[in-house]
Amino acid sequence: MTEELHAPGALARAGVIPLSEPNLGQLEYAAVLDALRSGFVSSVGPAVDEFEASFATAVGAEHAIACSSGTAAIHVALIIAGVSRGDEVLCSDFTFAGSANPIAYLGAEPVFIDSDERTWNADPGLVIEELERRAREGRRMPAAVEIVHVLGQPADIGPVLDAAARFGVPVIEDAAESLGATWSSGGLAGRHTGAVGTIGCFSFNGNKIATSGGGGMIVTNDADLAKRAKHLTTQAKVPAVGYLHDEVGYNYRLTNLAAALGNAQLSRIDEFVTAKRRIAQFYDEMLDDLGVTLPPRVDGFDSTYWLYSVLTRDTNERDAFVTHLARHGIQARALWRPMHAQPPFSAARRLGGTVADTLFERGVSLPSSTHLGDGERDRVAAAVRTFYAG
Ligand SMILES: *Cc1c(COP(=O)(O)O)cnc(C)c1O
Repeated sequence: MTEELHAPGALARAGVIPLSEPNLGQLEYAAVLDALRSGFVSSVGPAVDEFEASFATAVGAEHAIACSSGTAAIHVALIIAGVSRGDEVLCSDFTFAGSANPIAYLGAEPVFIDSDERTWNADPGLVIEELERRAREGRRMPAAVEIVHVLGQPADIGPVLDAAARFGVPVIEDAAESLGATWSSGGLAGRHTGAVGTIGCFSFNGNKIATSGGGGMIVTNDADLAKRAKHLTTQAKVPAVGYLHDEVGYNYRLTNLAAALGNAQLSRIDEFVTAKRRIAQFYDEMLDDLGVTLPPRVDGFDSTYWLYSVLTRDTNERDAFVTHLARHGIQARALWRPMHAQPPFSAARRLGGTVADTLFERGVSLPSSTHLGDGERDRVAAAVRTFYAG
């Protein structure tokens, strides 16, 4: 399938229901204009400080460091976790490439963890087994474990945190897609995805639940890690000394203009999460009897359903399903090819079986914009039904 380039809103004007578009209004317009008028357009300014402070509060973390992208956040998170050349990092297999690429930037080796059918995220049993096997055999531990919470769905990370703590391995959460997702029972009750590991990473790319037009955030409860993250994202420049850089740093700062947009969006996060959950509830009810696999619903794991995604009944049915929806003016999209099947990672080791492959072979995301209208929802559900029920 070819990827077409669309101006924002162009699909809707053409009568096509887009997969997911940012929800931007007067609040966002005013915030960006204010920042522009203030003269703080670049990488320092009050909106950045405010974004970091409100974000830390929103997810219940002590420190938050704004970055230029989610990928940059993960890159820096891996460095401050201690990952370097030749190290291994256990990483979710079923995810977007932005999770795994930073491991390669560092010359480290990913070891991909297959998914758990219950959550579609990394199977904690595989991580525990691997850490215990290494301990038994006296082998080196991975330098970090990176767990992704895909599609707004919290991973079953509690058992991973326990095992990693036993073996002294830091856990990085890639929460790029799961801002607003929480646990409501069990050991992590009341906690937010991205704020339970050693370091958490978020993205504010245009397709995420809240956007800054492009941006990311690192969160941690460790003051030293937070300080090092800030240092690395700001060219490792030593304050108050004439251009002294005490290590190789990065220009990974977020601009004040972007942070202004991020602040406006963050103030609406509850509205966005409520809207996503309402859409999911609707689709769940409408598609329940078709034999498709609905997205995970795990007791105590409160997904935001960032992109509502189903598994088609059969493999080989996915592309016909997406084409059928396109013919009905509905933009749907296949889920990710797992990382182990990507050319740059074809030599990487894998833990587990083929759950991630099945998610790729059968997975399709349906329109999930937070401002999706009731009439549009009905059209999507009707088109899905005609594919299966004729
Ligand atoms: C979007 C995304 C990223 C990368 O974030 P960017 O801001 O686009 O760099 C990383 N991981 C996952 C799971 C994502 O969805």
